[in-house]
Amino acid sequence: MRIAVLRERRTGERRVALLPEQLPRLLAAGVEVSVESGAGNEAGATDDDYRAVGAQVSEEVLTGADIVVSVQPINLSTARQLGEGVVTVSFLPTAEEGPLVRRLRERRITSFSMDLVPRTARAQPMDALSSQSMVAGYRGAIVAAERLQRFFPLFMTAAGTVRPATVLVLGAGVAGLQAIATVRRLGAVVEAYDVRESSAEEVASVGAKFVQLGLPPLAGAGGYAREMTEERATRQRELLAPHVAAADVLITTAAVPGRTAPVLVTTDMVAAMRAGSVVVDLAADQGGNVEGSIPGHEVMVEGVLVWGGSNVASQLPRPASELYGHNVVNVLLLMVRVGVLHLDFGDDILSATCVTHAGEVVHRPTLELLGEVG
Ligand code: NAD
Repeated sequence: MRIAVLRERRTGERRVALLPEQLPRLLAAGVEVSVESGAGNEAGATDDDYRAVGAQVSEEVLTGADIVVSVQPINLSTARQLGEGVVTVSFLPTAEEGPLVRRLRERRITSFSMDLVPRTARAQPMDALSSQSMVAGYRGAIVAAERLQRFFPLFMTAAGTVRPATVLVLGAGVAGLQAIATVRRLGAVVEAYDVRESSAEEVASVGAKFVQLGLPPLAGAGGYAREMTEERATRQRELLAPHVAAADVLITTAAVPGRTAPVLVTTDMVAAMRAGSVVVDLAADQGGNVEGSIPGHEVMVEGVLVWGGSNVASQLPRPASELYGHNVVNVLLLMVRVGVLHLDFGDDILSATCVTHAGEVVHRPTLELLGEVG
């Protein structure tokens, strides 16, 4: 049985699905690993590093591969080159990848989406959305600290006292909590808000003050948030406005699964911040929490810098790949029995993450998105 590690094709994607140090666990399970030449370059792993741990490195890895692993979904032309029954493992946001899902079905490829790993205790070592959110939260905090033209910590020196920077974090899930923890370590004073009921306790546990708006919680399924009504969104923005205006740094991470990100902050709210303040919108790729933020760009709004994140985890390719690869190895080991590919769909993790199999779209919400539910 052979696993192929692809070189990422998508512009700006610097991660790799498996790093050399992750291969011994797979080789010990009796599988061979082929790595496409240059796959690890951006994440700091050379072809020789892969060879040194026993992988084969070549320009062409698809022929003879039983499982193809990548970070981003494979593209349509790669899908055309894969034979029936080949397995793919990657992020596969099916809402955005309709044509690819159809192609995978048509080619009778068995595809698994790392976006669909369930939030159960057993699946935690495979939870790539969380691992990459953690990287993004850390990176967002560091970007904010670097862009802000002032100190984060309180300084009391003979030359005078400098007040600490104040940071507001909106959306305190995995990315938000990591952003809070990171700016706290740098000495900032932090406030945070989230719509989930458990959030106040989680925010306090990482050393920030929870902003009480007096609005009802908005819990959705599976520990995620629910979408706001327009009335609630307007009220929330009104109540948050003074907190935004008082912050030196605003970091936003709010998301609702399957929806565009909620707009939490309008241009007027940004304009009311002090000149020189910094806004980091980690949800820019999903439509943005901050009106006017542009993924991959920095824009100035009345003297406030607004940084729109784009594939933020990929900006720290080595640690992001380390964590993603760890998640992927744990998924792959569910598929291997004594060196042979064995897909047990009785396994709740494999059944939850499978998108296409044997010429069918087996993930029902994806079938609904394709408009094919009878
Ligand atoms: P996410 O990326 O979907 O969203 C980020 C945050 O934005 C969430 O905390 C959400 O509540 C918040 N949000 C949504 N709409 C908002 C709004 N209008 N205003 C303010 N905040 C808003 O979420 P996530 O980071 O993946 O995590 C969500 C929850 O799931 C967290 O409690 C996390 O600890 C939990 N979780 C559990 C597991 C597990 O049990 N295995 C794994 C990962 C995360």
